[in-house]
Amino acid sequence: LMQLAVPLNFIGFVYREIRQGLADLEQMFGLMDVTEEITDAPDATPLEVQNGAIRFDDVHFAYDANRPILQGISFEVPAGRTIAIVGPSGAGKSTISRLLYRFYDIQSGAITIDGQDIRDVTQRSLRAAVGMVPQDTVLFNDTIAYNIRYGRIAATEAEVVRAAELAQIADFVRGLPDGFDTMVGERGLKLSGGEKQRVAIARTILKSPPILILDEATSALDTHTEQEIQTSLDMVSKDRTTLIIAHRLSTIVDADEIIVLRDGRIAERGTHRDLMSQGGLYADMWNRQQEASEAEERLRRAQEKD
Ligand code: ATP
Repeated sequence: LMQLAVPLNFIGFVYREIRQGLADLEQMFGLMDVTEEITDAPDATPLEVQNGAIRFDDVHFAYDANRPILQGISFEVPAGRTIAIVGPSGAGKSTISRLLYRFYDIQSGAITIDGQDIRDVTQRSLRAAVGMVPQDTVLFNDTIAYNIRYGRIAATEAEVVRAAELAQIADFVRGLPDGFDTMVGERGLKLSGGEKQRVAIARTILKSPPILILDEATSALDTHTEQEIQTSLDMVSKDRTTLIIAHRLSTIVDADEIIVLRDGRIAERGTHRDLMSQGGLYADMWNRQQEASEAEERLRRAQEKD
């Protein structure tokens, strides 16, 4: 009986790990209510990443048939470049990141990576190639080290620490009573949004995927945290094909192309300079954000004087 108990125990362990992993991914994307299963095509082959060029070709998508969300989206992220997607709330920005991860299938058009339609490749290989830093990272109820190592289970302790350093979270972790062995998550130490995001960045640095999706947090961060996150994002996106879903326009001025989405369509596209000189939706958004941050700055200075 003992001989049987050990493998059964092991299967139970593996099962729990997989369930937890899936729950994490689903929570990460806010997909707990997804009912339709995406399955591999019978003849699916592993994605062969050459340099990680992404292409959306006339993509149409709706979560439910009566309400189209994306209506003919075409863009390319050349290998190693950074493309930012901006636009008003509800425009469909995060939907684009979910589609690239193939959490849903599109109604028409195609999404390809290095020329391979993502519907024709195994989900496992697709998700191995794409790293995601979500808006709201859900941490496991485990140590900080475990949460970082999740990016690559076989990573050594030194690699985990190095990833934390690159993600600008190592000093914070070292200051905790149990350092990297500090328990986090619901039953452990509660981390702030910015800290959790940096843990997610460290995890992604370890995973080292050729393609990266960064879904910027909507919540306002203080300037210092924002700069730290920016530095760590720059580290992780360097030389990788990167799609940024951006809420703060200041973080994407250097993007190779900015795509402005409105009501599921591309309203404007170009570099920051192009879009500013067009004086359209992007320029309006930029001016409004500048005014807001200047007002905040004035308020802060006034409070400092008091
Ligand atoms: P934000 O800037 O507020 O994050 P967004 O541009 O990223 O917005 P999406 O999250 O892509 O917007 O959502 C686009 C639209 O799709 C919204 O109207 C939203 O209500 C709808 N939507 C998002 N997720 C689902 C879902 N799981 N089922 C049905 N509709 C959804």
